[in-house]
Amino acid sequence: MALIVQKYGGTSVGTTERIVEVAVRIQQWRDKGHDLIVVVSAMSGETNRLIGLASELTRQPSGRELDVLLSTGEQVTIALLAMALMEKGYAAKSYTGSQVHILTDSAHNKARILDIDHRKIREDLAEGKVVIVAGFQGVDEAGNITTLGRGGSDTTAVALAAALKADECQIYTDVDGVYTTDPRVVPEARRLASITFEEMLEMASLGSKVLQIRAVEFAGKYNVPLRVLSSFEETGDGTLITTEEKNVESALISGIAFNRDEAQLTIAGVPDQPGVAHQILGPISAENIEVDMIVQNVGEDETTDFTFTIHRTDFPKAMEILQQTADKLGAKKVAGDDKIVKVSLVGVGMRSHAGIASKMFETLAKEGINILMISTSEIKVSVVIEEKYLELGVRALHSAFELETERA
Ligand code: ASP
Ligand code: MG
Repeated sequence: MALIVQKYGGTSVGTTERIVEVAVRIQQWRDKGHDLIVVVSAMSGETNRLIGLASELTRQPSGRELDVLLSTGEQVTIALLAMALMEKGYAAKSYTGSQVHILTDSAHNKARILDIDHRKIREDLAEGKVVIVAGFQGVDEAGNITTLGRGGSDTTAVALAAALKADECQIYTDVDGVYTTDPRVVPEARRLASITFEEMLEMASLGSKVLQIRAVEFAGKYNVPLRVLSSFEETGDGTLITTEEKNVESALISGIAFNRDEAQLTIAGVPDQPGVAHQILGPISAENIEVDMIVQNVGEDETTDFTFTIHRTDFPKAMEILQQTADKLGAKKVAGDDKIVKVSLVGVGMRSHAGIASKMFETLAKEGINILMISTSEIKVSVVIEEKYLELGVRALHSAFELETERA
């Protein structure tokens, strides 16, 4: 007997038929004797529909009122799921975020969970009830409804699992786990049996959008074993996200992440003096443009070149700012390229193995792919390449590191 928190996303509760399928799955776990807390999202498309309604009335809705509106989506699905379970003779009870005191700060639309009062939940569980909690929402100290940011139901589930010390937090979604890379790019991509929190954060922040990043951080911090599973297929155990010690695969490389939405800017021939980096990047970050990789070349004739990457949507704005900076600093030239991508090898196994980076560069060279930028961390090697080489590069790396082969 275990205490399990399950979360079902929008597509899993997208219709009443699907809600009944979720109820059937919950019954199977109940019948095995497990205690269950179930977190649900709004029906797929519902949160967007509500945002659309607000935008018909105002360009800038009040954060408080938007949260009152958006929280209704999840209130619908908790009640429907409770009804579906009761119809099958199973005891169930639904709660909004505020009813179980999911206390958050007051940052409307992106609130953070501070505390959960789980007494009521414990009582219900002891009475044999399936407890159903609305995802994505909470309440602040003053009693205002808050929401946790898009995709926030994952975080609700992890927070409940942490607060109640659940044995596992299962995230049911429309994919059956975390893959070595995007199967749409590499058909041989393989589902990972397990991956560490750190690796998952790298994979997620680099564009594999299976879980809300904040939920993974939260789970890592409180050591909540997280499992990603398909709510549509019976097959498999999904992917377990866990600590390094418990990671059963412990491969050299766990996966290849990539990010298509990158752009690169260069300012060349700037005076090589203290403070230059700040003068270049200060005005960029003042506009809330996030800078990712940064490279400064070794200077020649007292000048240096400075290259950095940003999100592609910020490209026009960043070019404009950089041009102004160049005029001010008397730089030789400004160049930019928004047809670039970032490809990264991710794996905790890199910590203890040298030569990963050089094998990566060799593989790309064999395919005639030019590397524009490189950055490394303990568990990751990233390169920037031209966009047109993305598929070729990822496929070549996937096969060079034998990621399609199951590990013992
Ligand atoms: N319904 C919310 C959203 O669409 C929260 C969630 O689905 O996790 O972002
Ligand atoms: Mg969602």
